[in-house]
Parts: sequence; structure tokens; C-alpha cells
Amino acid sequence: MHILISGAGIAGLAAARELGARGHDVTVVEHAHHLRLEGTPVDIRGDAIGAVDRMGLLARIREQRLRMSESSCFVDGDGVPVGRVPVADTSGADEDADIEILREDLVLTLADALPDTVTIRFADAVRSLTDDDGSDNGSDGGGVHVCFDSGRTGRYDLVVGADGQHSGVRELVFGPEKEYLRHLGVHFALVDLPGDTWSGGVNMIHNVPGRLAGVFRYKDRTVAVFQFRSGPLDHDHRDTDARKRIVLDAFAGVTSWRIPLLLDAVRAAPTLYVDSASQIRLPSWHRGRVVLVGDAGYCPAFLSGRGTSLALTGARFLAEELERNGDDHTTAFERYEARQRPYVTSAQASAEAGRDRLLPATRADLAARDAGLRAAAGRPLAVRSSS
Ligand SMILES: Cc1cc2nc3c(=O)[nH]c(=O)nc-3n(C[C@H](O)[C@H](O)[C@H](O)COP(=O)(O)OP(=O)(O)OC[C@H]3O[C@@H](n4cnc5c(N)ncnc54)[C@H](O)[C@@H]3O)c2cc1C
Repeated sequence: MHILISGAGIAGLAAARELGARGHDVTVVEHAHHLRLEGTPVDIRGDAIGAVDRMGLLARIREQRLRMSESSCFVDGDGVPVGRVPVADTSGADEDADIEILREDLVLTLADALPDTVTIRFADAVRSLTDDDGSDNGSDGGGVHVCFDSGRTGRYDLVVGADGQHSGVRELVFGPEKEYLRHLGVHFALVDLPGDTWSGGVNMIHNVPGRLAGVFRYKDRTVAVFQFRSGPLDHDHRDTDARKRIVLDAFAGVTSWRIPLLLDAVRAAPTLYVDSASQIRLPSWHRGRVVLVGDAGYCPAFLSGRGTSLALTGARFLAEELERNGDDHTTAFERYEARQRPYVTSAQASAEAGRDRLLPATRADLAARDAGLRAAAGRPLAVRSSS
């Protein structure tokens, strides 16, 4: 089949790998000018480990495994550790069933594994699509006629929307995002910090009620992470100054730990990544010849720590079901959904517990969380930050 995938993130690349490996002719269209390599480490958990194993990528992924959680801790306002941060464990995962990997490494691993049957076209996006039975244009069977931003057009047997939480394909086929988006009351921001002077080998997170700021070092990058509770924020995603203002306003007046320095880094940064912790909840992930995979269909929010795993299992199940069901894409889509839905339900249910553990809302909640961390440690932590 001739298959179009919108989005070259984890879900899009994994789906391209899996569909291309089964002999389909796959075009991936990515609206950025290159693969997007930003992001903190992501987790591959549970059955997603089996999915990458069956893709033949597990050994390479294991080689690139990080152990950030083991070198992370919460610190108080003076930089004194109050408890270990099992960052990958915010929803209670078993460490043995969890591989932490830099998002960039996973993206590049998947991209390197693409077969010759896959082409990626950057700086383009689906503008409109029409799913038809072919009678209008004299073709033999059904297909999806697609117009792209670049002015190109194409006809595909299937279209896979793998274009993330703010999916353009979903908007075109299923309607406006607001109908499916469930905001979890948290925003997050990432900004690259210059040099390696920040963390001294220890990744640190400091909370004030309803907010956290952290510094993480991996490979040759140091990144500041901000998370804060807030209702939906209306801003232009392309406006860097507007994104900076959101972070600066959220932390205005906070002077503990290194937060003033981190806010200076926000002011000076050429760019930063800001988004909400939101879930996408759709009753069905397919319509006609169009199907959604990954955050586009069922974003669980980063607080669940499971978005990447869902993207990987989803890509795998979709390709397997299309292989099993031949030309019957409707049955294949239904079976893909039936296999994937339990993972999505569980991941989405776990996100709020992750939020309450990472972002206690009040001073009392924060004190209780920290007391629990101290008790779990069983003794004062030896690690001292250099703030
Ligand atoms: C730059 C970036 C940084 C991230 N950082 C983190 C992080 O630090 N921690 C974390 O837990 N998760 C992060 N994520 C999200 C995480 O990658 C996903 O939750 C998860 O891996 C599921 O992947 P996905 O492929 O469904 O979505 P994504 O990884 O978001 O990939 C979607 C892809 O689609 C592209 N795209 C978007 N709209 C269009 C369009 N209209 N047409 C064509 N292409 C489009 C995007 O550029 C992107 O390449 C990040 C995502 C991105 C894009």
C-alpha cells in the first residue's frame, strides 16, 4: 500500500519503520525542517520494550540507556537534598521494566532503522484531505486525496496521523482539539542552559507549592525544566517572547534555590519549549482510511511517563494488524484499537498521581511529600548540591 504518515516523531518514525519493513511504500511528511531532537529523556516501559525488541532495536536502545533517575534528587531552598527522585518512576513503574533514553537518541535510532521503502519530506504538512471511493476521479478503489502546504498533492491508500498532541490530521478529520483535549492543570517548559557548570553531576529539582524547577545534565547538554500548575493558557506557540513570559510570570517572586538564575537563563535563551500537560481522549482513533497513532490519538500527558511507550506499541500493533488483515483496513484499525486501548486507559489514569507527586499544590502537601521521601530514604541523603 501507499501510506502517508504525518509527523516524524517517535510514533511516526516507529510506524514508518514497521510499515516500511512490511513492504509498504511510505511517505512521512514532517512540518519541521529537520528531525526534532529536543526533549528530556523519555521512558520505554513494559510491553513497549517488547515492541522495540521485535523491531530489532532493543540492543541499540539498551546501549544508549541513561540512569538519570538514579542521580536525581529533590532539594530544599538551600540546595540540601530531601529525597531521591525516581523521575522515571513518577507513576510507580518497576525499574527493571523501564529503559530511560534521551529522546534525541530514540528519534535517531528509529530514523536510522528506516528501510528504503520510506521517504521523509521535511518542511511540509497536510493542508487538506479527502477520503473517497475513487468514483470522482476514475480510480479503481478508495483512497485519500491529500493537498500539502507546499502545493504538492498525492493519493494514498491510508493516512496515519502521527503528528503529536496538537495533530493537524486529527483536526482535519476528527474536528477541533478542544473537543478532545483534557487539560491536567499543569504546564511545563524546557530551556537549554549554557555550559556544564550547573548541576555538578547531580540532577536537582526544587519545589515551591504548585511549581518546580530542575536542572538536568545528560551527555553534553544541561537543561532547565519548569513545571507549574495553571489553567489553560492561550498563547501563540510560535511566539518565543510569549512563551518566555508564561514561565517568568509563573515563577515571579520565587527566590529560593537557583530559581532567579534559571529565570535569567529563560530571559537569555534564543528559544524554549512550552506546552501543557494534556491528554487527548477520543472514542475512536480511526475514520475511513485515516488512523491516529501516538500523542495525536491518545496523548497521556508527560506526567504519566508513558507517551513514548504508547507511541511504540501503537505503531507496532497498527503494522501487525494491517499485515494480518490485508486490504481490510477497517478490521485492521479496529483490532489495532482493541489491542492498544487498555495501555492507553491505564497510562491516562496514572497521570494525575504523577502530577500530585511532582507538584504538591500546597505547603502542607509539599511537606508531606518530602517527609515521605525522607522516610523512604531511611537516612539523611549524603548528596549535597553546589548551589
Ligand atoms: C520537540 C519535542 C520535545 C519533546 N520533549 C519531551 C520531553 O522532554 N519529555 C516528554 O515526556 N515528552 C516530550 N515530547 C513528547 C514525546 O516525544 C511524545 O509524548 C511521545 O514520544 C509520543 O510521540 P509522538 O510521535 O506521538 O509525538 P511527538 O514526539 O510530539 O512527535 C510529533 C511529530 O509531529 C510533528 N508535527 C506536528 N504537527 C505537524 C503537522 N501538522 N504536520 C507534520 N508534522 C507535524 C512534530 O514536529 C513532531 O516531529 C517532545 C516532543 C517534541 C516534538
